[in-house]
Amino acid sequence: MSHSIPQRHFDALIIGAGGAGLNAALRLAQADLRVAIVSKVFPTRSHTVAAQGGVNAALANVSPDEWQWHMFDTVKGSDYLGDQDAIEYMCREAIPTVYELEHAGVPFSRLENGKIYQRPFGGQSQAFGGEQAARTCAAADRTGHAILHTLYQQNIRARSHFFDEYFAVDLLRDEDGYVLGALVLDIESGAPLIIAAKTTLLATGGYGQLFRTNTNAHINTGDGMGLALRVGIPLQDMEFFQFHPTGVAGKGMLITEAARGEGGYLINANGERFMEQYAPQARDLAGRDVVARAIVNEIRAGRGCGSQKDHVLLQLNHLDANLIHQRLPGVCDICRVFLGIDPAVRPIPVFPTAHYAMGGIPTDRHARVVAPAGHGPEEVVPGLYAAGECACVSVHGANRLGGNSLLDILVFGRAAGSDILRYVLENPRHRPLNESTIAPALARLARWERRGDGENVHVVKTELRKLMETHCGVFRDDATMRDGLHKLRALRDRLDGVKLQDHSRVFNTARIEALELDNLVDVGMATLTAALARQESRGAHSRVDFPQRDDERWLKHSLYTRTGDRIEYKPVRTKPLTISSFPPQDRVY
Ligand SMILES: Cc1cc2nc3c(=O)[nH]c(=O)nc-3n(C[C@H](O)[C@H](O)[C@H](O)COP(=O)(O)OP(=O)(O)OC[C@H]3O[C@@H](n4cnc5c(N)ncnc54)[C@H](O)[C@@H]3O)c2cc1C
Repeated sequence: MSHSIPQRHFDALIIGAGGAGLNAALRLAQADLRVAIVSKVFPTRSHTVAAQGGVNAALANVSPDEWQWHMFDTVKGSDYLGDQDAIEYMCREAIPTVYELEHAGVPFSRLENGKIYQRPFGGQSQAFGGEQAARTCAAADRTGHAILHTLYQQNIRARSHFFDEYFAVDLLRDEDGYVLGALVLDIESGAPLIIAAKTTLLATGGYGQLFRTNTNAHINTGDGMGLALRVGIPLQDMEFFQFHPTGVAGKGMLITEAARGEGGYLINANGERFMEQYAPQARDLAGRDVVARAIVNEIRAGRGCGSQKDHVLLQLNHLDANLIHQRLPGVCDICRVFLGIDPAVRPIPVFPTAHYAMGGIPTDRHARVVAPAGHGPEEVVPGLYAAGECACVSVHGANRLGGNSLLDILVFGRAAGSDILRYVLENPRHRPLNESTIAPALARLARWERRGDGENVHVVKTELRKLMETHCGVFRDDATMRDGLHKLRALRDRLDGVKLQDHSRVFNTARIEALELDNLVDVGMATLTAALARQESRGAHSRVDFPQRDDERWLKHSLYTRTGDRIEYKPVRTKPLTISSFPPQDRVY
């Protein structure tokens, strides 16, 4: 069957045109490699475009700062689960990375003296727990938009080859473990295509759509993670999913942390600034997990606002109206469109909302995918890379700091580009691509051609999202998660009976949604299985029945494997590259 499917050959296949994919591609195209970038939506619609607040780098334009302080804050923010070699690398590289963006044309906001504007964000300190630092480089509150458009234009100039609106179905992995490209689908025509490549980079972003209320784009369905799982690669630290404290109540879209960075704060029904009790020093700019839990606690204690007492308020109206409109135009837009209010006049009703995946495809700091080989130590999966939100390198550990994800995608996207360049120079020939390597991917595609009566994709997807929200939210316990896992297994079994009603080829988005559902279910299983297994509270994983962090038993990464829903563990890399490590301490803000 695959004889009839056309093949294209490239040095590098990049799946995903967000910040991670585009920064990797740019490096490669500038070195004259043949680069294919596949994206299921037009590149500038990738979720990176929605990033508001900014990107962290210790430039010290506004407050004194050092990359070592950035590193310490990130290690502490991760609740000591982050790998310190990768964190050191990211925080050091942050400074040249932001200047590189500036030179590529990103229109950062400016200080009076012409330097890049920086704002304070959560979990940022000067000198290891001291005063608040201002480390987040911003283009108003549309930083991701500015970065993504600049990277796209630079890639066009460097002649990267774009496959816009192509959907990656599955990776092609041969018997020796090499990844040789992917089977993709042209969404417009419905025609399959094999992209054979010496190296493949997964840069497919996050999976916020697994939860009913979330800040994410509809396209964030964990596809790259599903692709990895299906060729036998485990997912790491999937129990750690970030709930952003300030989603628009009842709706979920994000009110950026920049609103608090610029001086906004949270109040309960009594008008109290409650964060003072939970984090006396950092208050509203404590870690996101800390603020999200505080909001839920206030509501549970009956101090929620509104007739249902089901949210708290984010107050900005004590600030200068000009500052609000100038520095936070995106927030003002969201409030006007979705709430009909001006935040300079009235406070914003907020509630925690699913936001960001700390876990993902395990990589080393060169963005090479690593997986356990038999019972031995981890080995590099030849030809396969992962970077950005779909990867777990791990710099965010159990909780990510605001402004560190844009940084992560840029730094490790670039690192992936550098290592791919090395790999292609050392391995200049394509490995042969056999029928047997392609067969599993074709079988999965064919599975959705089955006709007749069956369950509907939408029904199953809606149930899945509600299930995850109910059974794996901000606070977790054994009984609720066990029940959730039971239901999720039953739902997975039902997948086989789900059928498409529409089998047309041209722009059949129902087929794409079905393929996405496969990925969401796999990623949901990874998340819930890993969450049930971890009997401690750390960062975003907050167990009512195990409220303490337990370094003796649990200072380790989890690895979920699809076959048999297995969980294994591996040690945290506590050794930085050049400086001495930061041993675990109590995490107070
Ligand atoms: C509302 C919001 C605001 C945020 N604000 C900030 C912020 O201020 N600072 C910060 O540091 N972080 C922020 N984040 C987080 C950060 O923006 C993301 O983690 C980051 O942009 C992810 O980038 P990425 O390159 O990994 O993936 P994305 O930008 O999500 O891109 C994924 C790409 O993969 C493609 N893709 C996916 N699946 C397939 C498939 N099957 N086939 C083909 N293509 C596929 C998509 O088309 C897309 O091009 C924010 C996130 C959200 C949701």
